[in-house]
Amino acid sequence: MSARVLAFALSLAAGAVIGWLLEGWPGATFGVAAGAALWFALDTFAATRVLRWLEAGQLRGAPSFGGVWGRAAARARRTIAAREERAEDAERRLEAFLDAIRTSPNGVVLLDARGSIEWFNQTASDHLGLDLQRDLQQQVVNLLRDPRFTEFYHAGHYTQDVVIDAPGSTPARPRRLALHIHPYGEGRRLLLSRDVTAVEQAETMRRDFVANVSHEIRTPLTVLAGFVETLQTLELAPQERERYLGMMAQQAQRMQMLVADLLTLSRLEASPPPGEGEWVAAQGLMAQAEQEARALAAVQAKSLRLVFEPAPGLALGGAPGELQSALSNLVSNAVRYTPSGGTIEVQATPGDKGGAVLTVRDTGPGIAPEHLPRLTERFYRVDRSRSRESGGTGLGLAIVKHIVQRHGGELRIDSAPGRGSTFRIVLPAARVRSADAAQARERA
Ligand code: ADP
Repeated sequence: MSARVLAFALSLAAGAVIGWLLEGWPGATFGVAAGAALWFALDTFAATRVLRWLEAGQLRGAPSFGGVWGRAAARARRTIAAREERAEDAERRLEAFLDAIRTSPNGVVLLDARGSIEWFNQTASDHLGLDLQRDLQQQVVNLLRDPRFTEFYHAGHYTQDVVIDAPGSTPARPRRLALHIHPYGEGRRLLLSRDVTAVEQAETMRRDFVANVSHEIRTPLTVLAGFVETLQTLELAPQERERYLGMMAQQAQRMQMLVADLLTLSRLEASPPPGEGEWVAAQGLMAQAEQEARALAAVQAKSLRLVFEPAPGLALGGAPGELQSALSNLVSNAVRYTPSGGTIEVQATPGDKGGAVLTVRDTGPGIAPEHLPRLTERFYRVDRSRSRESGGTGLGLAIVKHIVQRHGGELRIDSAPGRGSTFRIVLPAARVRSADAAQARERA
């Protein structure tokens, strides 16, 4: 500040000296006034430039001169630069934060204190059918009209989720959403949406599965308990007694088979898919399946023509026990469902692009088209009593499908009522070798 006073004094002095030299004392007086006016004009000019620059609000073009105004401008420039840097930093962080929310698998909607939509991410738009152009600043209850949501929203106790059908959900393609509200700030609310369709479907499947298993076990148990009671209370002739014990053994065996199939399924689900694994000759799988088929046909007192075609050249890779179980299940179904006099043909042949196909064809009753898509569901049967009579658990094709998928293959079913059925296990090239190559590898 002293420099400023000194500069003012110097300009007065300079005016006085110049005036005195030119006109004596009157000139000196005029010179002082002129020096003061010049100083004032220069000072005002500097102040105006600084003010204009500040008003423009631009960091660029800051006046650069000395003196108080120059220093003030430099100081303001530094302050503004620091503030702008902080603002840019905050904006970058806000963008990163919004980016994270945008990519969230959950829908996020910000509501203001009046319940109007302030912002939402893409997932919320997909879940709730919101449109960025149309729906910002709209009341959320006017857009989400499900009565369960309206009640939940107005009740104001947001401790639990509410589950609603997503807009556009249909019985054929149901979509369920869980909505949650978190109050925050001054009366603001955060609405979160989560797609729970898969979770609900899994829960329904689990419940159905438990109900089915209980039912399947209860039936033979009830029969067994009835026989036990009969044996305990009635005096039976030895022959009669033998007959009852035979039927009891049958029911016990049915339960054993069910438990064995359930264990197989849970093992298949719990273990990772077989890797390169072992190689097994298709011929060996066929021989085992043939032996079982002949034994089953004999037990069921059926006369069937069983044709197992030789397949010397093929080796299949993966889990041999699983592959055997898949083929044996299909062959046993063919034997069980084909009436006496029918024919069952089994083949292992090279397939497309180096793959292989195991085919089981029968001349049985065939299956109506409406059942085909559901055959591999657990416990799905076309004819319940026929399945039970022939010793079925309702899990065979579910097991086959699981095994085939674990080996990267596909189960194909061709059937029509009165025209028999053809089940094909189609395996990819990665699971197929020529039998000689597989043997050579094993020896190496
Ligand atoms: P199940 O133990 O009842 O045979 P599966 O899962 O093996 O159970 O088969 C499901 C249903 O598919 C069977 O109940 C039966 O109705 C039908 N099915 C399976 N294989 C055949 C076949 N070869 N011929 C006719 N129907 C079949």
